[in-house]
Amino acid sequence: QESDILGFTRIRRVAPIAVNTHGGRAKCLQRLIRLDLPVPETVALSFDAVHRLAEGQAFDMKALLRVFGDAPLLSVRPSSEDPDWGGPGAILNIGMNDARHAELTDSHGAEAADALYLRFVQAFAVHVERLDPELFEFDTSVPVQEALKSALAANEDETGDPFPQDPAHQLGQVLRSMARAWEGTTARLLRQAKGAPADAGLGLIVQSMALGLGPGESGAGVVQLVDEQTGAPLVKGRYMRQAQGRAAVTAGAGKDVLYLSKDERGGSLEEAQPELFAKLVEMTRLCRVRLREEMQVEFTISEGKLYVLDAVRVPRSSRAALRIAVQLAEDGIIPREEAILRIPARSLTELLHQQVDPKDKRDVLAKGIAASPGGAVGRIVFNSSVAQTYEARGEPCILVRRETTPEDIRGMHSSVGILTERGGVTSHAAVIARGIGMPCVVGASIRINTRERTLTLGDGRKLEEGDVITLDGSAGEALLGAVRLLPPVKDQWYLQLMDWADAIRDIGVRANADTPSDAAVARNFKAQGIGLCRTEHMFFEGDRLTVMREMIFAAKHEDRAEAIARLLPMQRSDFIELFRIMEGLPVCIRLFDPPLHEFLPSDREGAKELAEALDLPLSDVTRRIDWLSEFNPMLGMRGVRLGITFPEIYEMQARAIFEATIEASKHGAPVVPEIMIPLVSAKREVELVKTQIDGVAAAVRNETGAEFTYRLGVMVETPRAALRAGDIAQNAAFLSFGTNDLTQMAYGLSRDDAGRFMNAYVQQGVFPEDPFHTLDFEGVGELLKIGAERGRKVRPELTVAVCGEHGGNPESIAFCRAAGFDYVSCSPFRVPVARLAAAQLAA
Ligand code: PEP
Ligand code: MG
Repeated sequence: QESDILGFTRIRRVAPIAVNTHGGRAKCLQRLIRLDLPVPETVALSFDAVHRLAEGQAFDMKALLRVFGDAPLLSVRPSSEDPDWGGPGAILNIGMNDARHAELTDSHGAEAADALYLRFVQAFAVHVERLDPELFEFDTSVPVQEALKSALAANEDETGDPFPQDPAHQLGQVLRSMARAWEGTTARLLRQAKGAPADAGLGLIVQSMALGLGPGESGAGVVQLVDEQTGAPLVKGRYMRQAQGRAAVTAGAGKDVLYLSKDERGGSLEEAQPELFAKLVEMTRLCRVRLREEMQVEFTISEGKLYVLDAVRVPRSSRAALRIAVQLAEDGIIPREEAILRIPARSLTELLHQQVDPKDKRDVLAKGIAASPGGAVGRIVFNSSVAQTYEARGEPCILVRRETTPEDIRGMHSSVGILTERGGVTSHAAVIARGIGMPCVVGASIRINTRERTLTLGDGRKLEEGDVITLDGSAGEALLGAVRLLPPVKDQWYLQLMDWADAIRDIGVRANADTPSDAAVARNFKAQGIGLCRTEHMFFEGDRLTVMREMIFAAKHEDRAEAIARLLPMQRSDFIELFRIMEGLPVCIRLFDPPLHEFLPSDREGAKELAEALDLPLSDVTRRIDWLSEFNPMLGMRGVRLGITFPEIYEMQARAIFEATIEASKHGAPVVPEIMIPLVSAKREVELVKTQIDGVAAAVRNETGAEFTYRLGVMVETPRAALRAGDIAQNAAFLSFGTNDLTQMAYGLSRDDAGRFMNAYVQQGVFPEDPFHTLDFEGVGELLKIGAERGRKVRPELTVAVCGEHGGNPESIAFCRAAGFDYVSCSPFRVPVARLAAAQLAA
């Protein structure tokens, strides 16, 4: 009876059914049949057959009907390769006509027969004959018998013919219309948006109906063994008496609708039909074990007999997905590696942050780049000092800025979320927000008026300071009012999965952490050390900014030395604290990087305040600001260039690191600090700084009599440093690629301004993705490979790492692992994603 020529295959244990020829539903049904579940006779039409049907080729429907025996009633359902790609809705009761109606009236009663016929006439009229659905909708108050009469009459009125009576004709029409619906433009665009290829095929399933209507216990329902929100085990589902298909799921509560297991809210199948219930649960368990997945089983009971019609993977939240995968592995149903592979690494960010509840209503005020995930609700403020006032009052606020600068750090810490008009994924706001795990949207479609303290939206609406908004950093949206938030989850299943992940992972994961609180988060997320501590961020805390400014303004060498001497103990205590928190793990400290003007006020008002604080004439302050300002600060006097021009700064930092090393080693395991030089482009820079730092180390050893070692490394952030990595590695124990600057310089693309045109660039396919987000394998990636290779040639034991934002990006991690990198380092909140993504590469 299997017939390639006819294009259909009876699904049996051994029939040749595959997902890529007949679709996922067909394959699943074959699995159910192999489990000896009571599946009614089922036939699958291949993608090819359905395609030929759509093109108008005639098929022998009589031969197809014969498979199902005498005068069958049938259902047709879609079977695409991926259930997410959609497909036409199911059509039930094909084969109903006047004669079958009369027979069923005798055997099953008039009401059941009417309902069966009505359902088919409605579906046929609307989906096959494409008649106006309104003509076939009836109020529940209309008796079924009357509804059926009107439906048949309406059909005849509209088509000019009586309702088709020949089952072969009916079936042919249904199959053809479903095949054509799949090939329609709208359906194609919809599924392509979900990742389906342009030529994705559709299979169709023809199945003998289990009626679900008539005498005795009859009805239909669904059952599953987990809660789809939490993943907790429980028997869950609905069953509706005298019903077909998924009616139980869509119907509201009523006397005919039962819960599956005992439930306070109403009657249950467990109580009404304990034996059938037990059988059903047993079958669903079998599905779970043998299909290695939590399945939702669609069943029908006809006159007391149970049928399984279909099963689909239980749709689930990210949280439930994790628990389900771990539970399946713990029950020995899937290996641990598979549990690890089943969880999309990125979905962890969703679990570890508060999230905007997708079910709550949302009025989108502005869209931008999703720079840091999570949800936050607060009042808008337009500057950092107001943010601090709000924080002092205990009122959550969201900092709204054109863009943020290091001056805003304190305000950012005082806020619960950040929204900016400008910037891209590696702009200041984005990097800081990810570092502190705070939701952030940058490059948003808003216009800020700082003086008026208002912001204007794309649609002309205006918001003022104090207005409440919700920030959805995962979607890149700002929403009006307080939208409901869902709490983060870090439960035992998460912890278990991550333990398994760490056990198989073969590339290290460290965190970028600047402050003790970052370090605590990093430790909590099981980072294997700090891969980048941006020390300049320490200078924005407390009174340090003032001392820093005094240093910048020092006219004489002694004055500068005095200011620097005051910074020393502050830095030292920072490092002692970091070493203490990270005890036993490596801590990589980057020497001062940004241009000095970032520590000075950017407007006149700020300059005036500073003049007062330093007791200097305003003109002195503005002159100094002018002197320090650069046309292109990103390519100006920053990083090692500053260290070489003002050696006192690096010397002070080195001393603070060594003194902290001695202090921390007294209380715990000996600390081996790592010191990293930023923005290097030439071998000589490294030599100079190395001599300087070795000198400080010798001095400290001399003064204290204590012994310690340290590792000196170089940040590869300029293309030249990557190309000359061989030279540079002669004086470096490690190379850490700063892919933010490296991307900026490889493309000649400003990391702070690219947000303005990045969307247009990505949309038009100039870049496949934002290169600040996903490492550009071809260009920047080549620099990474060249750098690692040339460095290791000179020094085989060289440690190679990446510490730009790409360190937390799964695709970029795959690239680094393939290139033989030792570790990646990313924002603390992305550490779990990186750990899981890295484990998936090794699984
Ligand atoms: C980098 O450039 O990649 C880096 C990590 O340094 P920063 O982001 O501080 O410039
Ligand atoms: Mg950098």
